[in-house]
Order: sequence, then C-alpha cells, then structure tokens
Amino acid sequence: MAEINLMGVGHSYGGDAYALEKADLRLEDGKTYALLGPSGCGKTTMLNIISGLIYPSDGRVVLGGKDVTRVKTAARNIAQVFQFPVVYQSKTVFENLAFPLRCRNWESARIRARVNEVAELLGLTSRLHMSSRRLTADEKQLISLGRGLVRDDVAALLMDEPLTVIDPQMKFELRRKIKQANDQTRHTVIYVTHDQNEAMTFADEIVVMKAGRVIQRGTPQELFEKPYDTYVGNFIGSPGMNFIGVERHGDRLMLGEIEVLAGARVSALPASGKFTIGIRPEHLAFEASSGCSIPAWLVSVQDHGKIRVLELALATSHIKMKIARDVSFPGTDIRVFFSPDRIRLYADGIFVN
Ligand code: ATP
Repeated sequence: MAEINLMGVGHSYGGDAYALEKADLRLEDGKTYALLGPSGCGKTTMLNIISGLIYPSDGRVVLGGKDVTRVKTAARNIAQVFQFPVVYQSKTVFENLAFPLRCRNWESARIRARVNEVAELLGLTSRLHMSSRRLTADEKQLISLGRGLVRDDVAALLMDEPLTVIDPQMKFELRRKIKQANDQTRHTVIYVTHDQNEAMTFADEIVVMKAGRVIQRGTPQELFEKPYDTYVGNFIGSPGMNFIGVERHGDRLMLGEIEVLAGARVSALPASGKFTIGIRPEHLAFEASSGCSIPAWLVSVQDHGKIRVLELALATSHIKMKIARDVSFPGTDIRVFFSPDRIRLYADGIFVN
C-alpha cells in the first residue's frame, strides 16, 4: 500500500500533441480513486504510467516515496486488472488465483486459505477445481479480478474498466464485492471508467478528465454539489446539471423578463462573459414558498421506477427535472421553482460563485 505521486507528469505518443498534459496528482495511500472521462481523454495513459507499462515523456512517478519513473512494471509491486480477462486456460480456477501467491513463495496452507477467501467473495468456490477453459467470459473476468485482489501486500491495485465484459445484472454486485474486499486490504485502488454511475458508487474520490487534462477531483458529493465547470456538471449526475443561459443587467440575472437572481452574488460576476446558471434536476420543484419560478412546457416523461425524469422546454433551452414517482405534475403547462441557494453561477463555463 502506498501513496502515488505524479509530479509534472505528461505524455506524448509522438510529435507535439500530448495525450496527457503535464500535471501534478497525488493519490493518498489506502483510498479508492476513479479516473473518469470519455473515451480518448487519457485515462489509460495515466494508469499505464502509474503501472510502468508506459514511461512518461515528462515528470516523475513516485510510489511509496520511491522514484519509479523508469522502473519496470514487475518491480513496482502493483496488481493490475484489465478490461478483458487474462487467464491461464490450462490451469484450474484455483491455480489461476494462486499464481500471484506462488510467485511470491507463499506457503501452501496460506495460499489455500487466501484463495478460498477470495473465491468465496467472488462466488467462485464451486468452480475452484474446474479448468478455466470451460468458464464463461464473465467467470474468466472474475478470475482476473480475483488475481488482482488475492495479494494483500501490493503497493496499489490498478483496474482498467474491469467490468466491461460483465453482465449488467452482476456489475452492481461485483462493484460492491470489490469494495468489500478492499475495505479489508485497504489497497490504494485506481479504477478507470467512463461510467459516472460506476465512479460515483465505487470511489472515495473521483478524478474527472477531459482531453488529456484533470479538470476536477473530489468526493462524489463534492463533484455533485460543486462542479468546477459545465463539463463536470454535465458529466456527473444522472441526468447531469441543467445549465440555463441568462443575461446580466447590473446586479440582476435575467431569463427573458424573469429575474432569476439579484444582489451581491451577481455583482461579483466578471464584467462581461457568457453567463449561465447551473441547477440540478433534483433541485427543481413544482411549488416553493420562496425563490424563483419560471414557466416551462412538458416535452417528455421518462419512467425510471421510483423516480421520473421530466424534460421541460424553457423559452430558449431544454432542462431536466427529477421527481419522485408519487409526485404528480400539473399537466403540460408548468411552473418550476428553485431556491437561490441551489443555483451555481458560471461565466464562460467556469464556476464563479
Ligand atoms: P478509452 O476509454 O477509449 O481507452 P482513454 O481515456 O483511456 O480512452 P487513452 O487510451 O489514454 O484514453 O488515449 C488518450 C489519447 O492517446 C487518445 O487520443 C488515443 O488515441 C491516444 N493513444 C493512446 N494510445 C496510443 C498509442 N499507443 N499510440 C498513439 N496514440 C495513442
């Protein structure tokens, strides 16, 4: 278990373009991190720099206080789980799980106890003596996960979209189990995903990336409540934050003829720029004793079981509203209310106050 410190680390696969822009990132010992962002934003590049599969073009990688920038993967004491299963087809499930421990000369009784523990956790106990060749793709990936989890002495556990091939029904359960296993071992875990829901439910902290840059890091709650920019606001949450373009008139923000906010917060905005208010779909209501209200028209209703997501048209944009299933909505001609405390102000896409 170790702290991971990237110091001025950047990477180019060739030419002037950087797949990962130079930056510092410190990941604390024993915490679970998600690297989150769309395809091509540099998540795997960053993970591979940490594991040693890639040596960065710039900067230093420090693992547990030791500079490992040019140290090979095998010498970094890291466990890795990839997107697709890596199993020894000729070995049994037991032998696959035992392999990392045999390589470290654990004694047989200790290996048996640990393999049984991990197999139990992943629901593989009844298959321990089967040949790995006979397993489904799901089960093979469980073995890969098991091999990542089986050692309790690794500096870090790195996982690159490990649940991609897993049946959607099982994903939730497996995330819970990986988390449970890690609560015991307290590895430093880095988990790459493009799925914000996966990141939000799994990680202590999320590192949100875009186009080779870290845009914001924080706990799921911090990212939900205080997105640094409209990109993070959109990316985090289901559905993402609503952004509504407004105009500034002195210390008032106007949506057409409607004043949505006035006073000191508006005065603190930059003199010019494109201003938007950010408001979460969860923070809109059909009635309120105070705050702002705007007229809207119902465009569609999505049923998500316990909740519904309404798509509403405003004069110039569409927004989403999330309501409990038992909340009735008043036809198609609607007024939506929100409290000033829930509004976040953005200038040119960046949070101001
Ligand atoms: P994905 O989720 O699709 O794997 P990612 O966020 O992990 O995406 P990376 O795989 O790190 O992103 O890729 C970042 C950028 O670097 C992309 O533009 C990609 O095309 C480029 N890239 C990745 N690997 C190589 C390589 N071996 N050679 C050249 N360019 C590469």
